[in-house]
Amino acid sequence: MAELSKWQVELKNSIRKPADLLARGMIRESELAAIEKIHEYFPFSITPYYAGLINWDNPNDPLLRIVAPSIDEQDRSGSLDVSGEAENTQNTGEEGTQMKYPSTVLMLPIPVCFAYCRFCFRKRLFNPEVKGEEILKNLGDALSFIKDHPSVNNILLTGGDPLMIKTSMLRKFLREIRKVPHVKIIRFGTRVLTFLPSRITSDPELLDLLKEISEHDKRVYFVNHFNHPNELTEEVGKASDSLIKSGVILANQSVFLRGVNDSPEILRDLFNKLAAWGITPYYIFQCKFIKGSGHFRIPLIESCDLFDDATRGLNGLAKRVKFIMAHFSGKIEVLGTEMRSGERWIFLKYHQARNEALIGKVLSFPLPEQAYWFDDLPGVNTDPRLQRS
Ligand code: SF4
Repeated sequence: MAELSKWQVELKNSIRKPADLLARGMIRESELAAIEKIHEYFPFSITPYYAGLINWDNPNDPLLRIVAPSIDEQDRSGSLDVSGEAENTQNTGEEGTQMKYPSTVLMLPIPVCFAYCRFCFRKRLFNPEVKGEEILKNLGDALSFIKDHPSVNNILLTGGDPLMIKTSMLRKFLREIRKVPHVKIIRFGTRVLTFLPSRITSDPELLDLLKEISEHDKRVYFVNHFNHPNELTEEVGKASDSLIKSGVILANQSVFLRGVNDSPEILRDLFNKLAAWGITPYYIFQCKFIKGSGHFRIPLIESCDLFDDATRGLNGLAKRVKFIMAHFSGKIEVLGTEMRSGERWIFLKYHQARNEALIGKVLSFPLPEQAYWFDDLPGVNTDPRLQRS
């Protein structure tokens, strides 16, 4: 058997058993059976590096909340495919390949991650019963699809985490994609920097590969996912620096999460640090109504206030972040709110849309206190015929 590399050994030593959470005092004996069941439905795994960032004396530690299963996950209301990804897959006809917008093809190359975010909107991929079903089976078929669609100028490799693929496999994969002339951007949706920065710093071959496929007119982007400033450590700084020196462009997306970053000070600190470290704050998303993630959701009215408070006073580079609802119909940007005749209203704009006619369209609706999502706004037309192209 091939020898494991340093990062693979580290990954192997992740905390993966509910009993380990009990031993650390993070769950009660009476909760163990329920947590075991949750773990079967949606596994958990915490890398030794990330475990080292958690204050294990604090059951409400924000980083612990991100990766450790909670008894609240027993509430399975919500959906497992809020973004209509099954439909996007059918658009391509190729497993593990989705196309929602004409310029972008999304590929799901692997059904595993470094750690499992409890609010993940693709948690259905990791359930042992379906694991692998929606994953890319045949790179050749996916490439043929991309070659047949010259409108595709960027490929998004995403979660499961594409950096879980070993470098020798990634090399074959990426070199093939690079041969398609109209694909200009290769984008990784990854939490490698958050959960295991040694995957980057201990693998010079990976850095060489990224340098090889990163040209002045054909770039590689890492769209990272940091939700809290405690995740931005010295190790992350070193790994980011190595990536930047290899020509990779770094951006970040976050999610509004109850108990993690529902404070303007935390978010301001996060956006400021990201901009200073060369990781562009790109999107912050309203949390979707995923099964078992209800305890993370924040009403829209509160997210709007958080966003305004957090971004007030930021420099222009830190303020590039957009507040987005990633809806079935497209990416809806939240522009802000205002009082009208004693009632709070929300203003939205289609940033991207399945139905191209909607792109750029500005919408306004009354904003009730208990609206969590676009569809909760009074007067929203959720007729799917309007939302498809
Ligand atoms: S790393 Fe991404 S795909 Fe993986 S569990 Fe977290 S949010 Fe989901």
